[in-house]
Amino acid sequence: MKLSNNFYAHEFLHDIEWEDLSLPNQFLLKVLCDTVLQPIRDFLAKEYGREIILNVSSGVRDEKDVDRLIKQGYHPSSRSDHFYSNAIKTTSSRDRKRFGKYFTYGAGAADIIPEGVSIREVFDKICDGIKSGRLDIKYGQIIFEKRTHSTGWIHISNSKTRAMSAGMIDAVDFSIEGKLMMSLDNGKTYKVV
Ligand SMILES: [Zn+2]
Repeated sequence: MKLSNNFYAHEFLHDIEWEDLSLPNQFLLKVLCDTVLQPIRDFLAKEYGREIILNVSSGVRDEKDVDRLIKQGYHPSSRSDHFYSNAIKTTSSRDRKRFGKYFTYGAGAADIIPEGVSIREVFDKICDGIKSGRLDIKYGQIIFEKRTHSTGWIHISNSKTRAMSAGMIDAVDFSIEGKLMMSLDNGKTYKVV
């Protein structure tokens, strides 16, 4: 399933087909491709004067994927936008108080790794583009995530105001809207850039 000029559904899915996704999952993934990822890819093509392939290393997650990622040594958030509205059991008392037994407010996110160019350079270009107004997109968070010297990715999420209904929005934290950040220590701390 083609979701935008350069993005296909299977790139975002692990052990599941597009047809098996819930309608909210499909909707949020389409919004992410249409209004965030494709404009970023088009912007980078202009900046570099050639197409830059953006590989998706993680897209739609459910509870099984969280267990798998923890086993692999990652630190996935239990309130992640990667859940694309999937219901995930809340684990901390703080989250239970705020969201109830299940967190269902994941607005949609993808981790991308550009091919043949530095991840940091691409992140900096995206930040420059947004700050200068040359890249005009509505997004939730764009985060440069550095893991080891040689690995990392850019986490990009949907704007919750664009992706969610008013009722859902009441329950959501808007302090994470329109934020550019980086983490250089395996996801332990984050700072705004
Ligand atoms: Zn991510």
